[in-house]
Amino acid sequence: MAITRDDVLKALSTVTVDRNGTTLPDSGRLSQVVIDPGNRVMFSIRIDPSEAERFEPVRREAEGRVLALSGVSSVLASLTSERAPNAPSPGAAPRQPAGAAGGPGAPPRQGNALPGVRHIVAVASGKGGVGKSTTACNLALALSAQGLKVGLLDADIYGPSVPKLLGLSGKPRVIEGKTLEPLQAYGLKAMSIGLLIEPESAMIWRGPMVQSAITQMLRDVAWGELDVLIVDMPPGTGDAQLTMAQATPLSGAVIVSTPQDLALIDARRGVTMFRKVSVPILGVIENMATFICPNCGAASAIFGHGGARHEAERLEVPFLGEIPLTMAIRQTSDAGRPVVATDPDGPQAKIYREIAGKLWANLSGAPAGRAAPKIVIE
Ligand code: ADP
Repeated sequence: MAITRDDVLKALSTVTVDRNGTTLPDSGRLSQVVIDPGNRVMFSIRIDPSEAERFEPVRREAEGRVLALSGVSSVLASLTSERAPNAPSPGAAPRQPAGAAGGPGAPPRQGNALPGVRHIVAVASGKGGVGKSTTACNLALALSAQGLKVGLLDADIYGPSVPKLLGLSGKPRVIEGKTLEPLQAYGLKAMSIGLLIEPESAMIWRGPMVQSAITQMLRDVAWGELDVLIVDMPPGTGDAQLTMAQATPLSGAVIVSTPQDLALIDARRGVTMFRKVSVPILGVIENMATFICPNCGAASAIFGHGGARHEAERLEVPFLGEIPLTMAIRQTSDAGRPVVATDPDGPQAKIYREIAGKLWANLSGAPAGRAAPKIVIE
């Protein structure tokens, strides 16, 4: 039986938010309720950051009431807070990692966002197909090779590829009714939106749904203790990406770009987007920088070369390094045997490790953890 928005609102009207008995729908705090074709229900509850603790039981109750409706397959309910653009967060301290650039006058955030996880780092790109996921995966493995505890969260709603890159399949196990157990691959803890949803349903997601999904993948996955959680972001700089950048308590972002001019324009948009939401740019990586011939080993700069490095200088963000276009990277990625894990002594693994070393150096200067998401409505 198809579930309707009215059914959901009726269930939510049994949830009260204060001692006066004001119901959730009457409180003016409820977002639009979204129901996808798989009968997954999503909504958010607007709060002031100081009310987070008080509203967590309300969120859970609301989630439970909707989940109890027959026909509902799952519920994503999240708490969100809004504030006016440029309004300072009370008591927040500026946090700029060494060599990283945030937006001028950008509002700082603070707090311990995800207990046990020291840093959350977004790997993003201005457009698709530049090798963002391949880079995110190999970077995560290279950080892990340094002895760090690393997680990889695939939040690319438009084309989740971490399961393929790491050779993962099957649904994650649910522990104690609610928490998802991350999958393990090559020493990484991994979770992908591709393991949780049907591939076609993500394409139609809008802001609140994207935000609920990322919030839930951060909060309801048993990540345990991690030094770094790498988040493979959806490509591009549209609303969904902006929402995700805001909803994720990031220590910083890494932008992956190919050398072509067009990709660089897109990469610039990526830098601007993260600055807008006051997330420091930890660095730019040039992927497919040179083509290494699989026969003779000669390097050719078929897309031009050095563009990302110059662009990084111009934008005053760190340049983390260049990754060549090689058959080994393409084949290992597509076979679920990432090169850093399967050929750790090879030339590609060395490059990823060098980049990971610079990234970690920039990150170590960054304050750990971040505040609950703050949504800037412009
Ligand atoms: P994105 O996440 O930006 O859409 P992917 O990481 O899925 O891009 O990569 C797109 C394709 O390019 C994949 O087939 C991948 O194997 C390949 N690829 C990515 N980086 C490299 C590289 N440095 N050398 C060779 N192939 C690469």
